[in-house]
Amino acid sequence: MKKIGISSYYLQNLFGPTRALEILAASGFDSVDFDLGEYGVGKDEIYKSDEAMLEHFTRIKERADELGLIISQTHGRCCTYTPEKKQCDFAKWVSERDLFATSILGAPACVIHNISTGKWGVRDPEFMHEKNAEFISDISPFAEKHGVCIGFETFGDVWLDGKRHLDFFGDSYELKKQFDMTKTKNKVLCMDTGHTNKACSVGKEKGLDLPHVEESIKLFGKDLKLLHLNDNNGYTDQHLPPYFSGYQFSLNWDSIMEALEGVGYDGVYNFELNLDFLKPVILDIFPVLGKYLREFINKYE
Ligand SMILES: [Zn+2]
Repeated sequence: MKKIGISSYYLQNLFGPTRALEILAASGFDSVDFDLGEYGVGKDEIYKSDEAMLEHFTRIKERADELGLIISQTHGRCCTYTPEKKQCDFAKWVSERDLFATSILGAPACVIHNISTGKWGVRDPEFMHEKNAEFISDISPFAEKHGVCIGFETFGDVWLDGKRHLDFFGDSYELKKQFDMTKTKNKVLCMDTGHTNKACSVGKEKGLDLPHVEESIKLFGKDLKLLHLNDNNGYTDQHLPPYFSGYQFSLNWDSIMEALEGVGYDGVYNFELNLDFLKPVILDIFPVLGKYLREFINKYE
């Protein structure tokens, strides 16, 4: 039977990590995409010492095991190299901490964002590949040291000076090219269905024929190990459950699931959803959401 998972981001923010896992397990999820965004910033002291990290994340891992919940992946701080040196130093430091946390949690991979057109502006492909390769080669030794993989995620669009642009690594060909030129073995690909939908929609506006979700899945093949499943209308990063943007706009889920089957995808069917608007009723919604997503996935058994 296919396993379903979900990002714990909203629940962690509202209730803390342990309670978040308990709610997920009680709502019928098999697995969690553990969010690391709250660590390493503000008042957080945990990321400052190895001992504190070992204690904190071992406790979370033990609770997940008790609940029978798999920690299938983590999401690192959405932090990468930008034109500011200080930010690059921070991105390198926090990525090492994220990869260490991932290994303590027993997860195989951590999604770390590639560099973005949003920060660098529209540049030559060579520049984007070189700059991103610099970031990845700086953090690859940490992935190797901690025995986990860096997850390369598909991007979407960005708004610059009031205009919509393709985010460079939203082009799955470019993401795959970057992935292939990265020397480390500690790497996997992550398909964010909503991001790729937006990339294709902005690509169309610019006369580009970019690979859509299904084609990207085929292109990534066996290297596709992580999913951020979500739906949108092609224009906003809505991170909705499948079909919530309306049948007229929704992704073609039948062909996406067929493409995953076709490449022999055997990982968790992990959803990355924006649940902010459901905050007042979040505890009522979660069991229903768990049921809805289970039903959705079961159709493809
Ligand atoms: Zn994502």
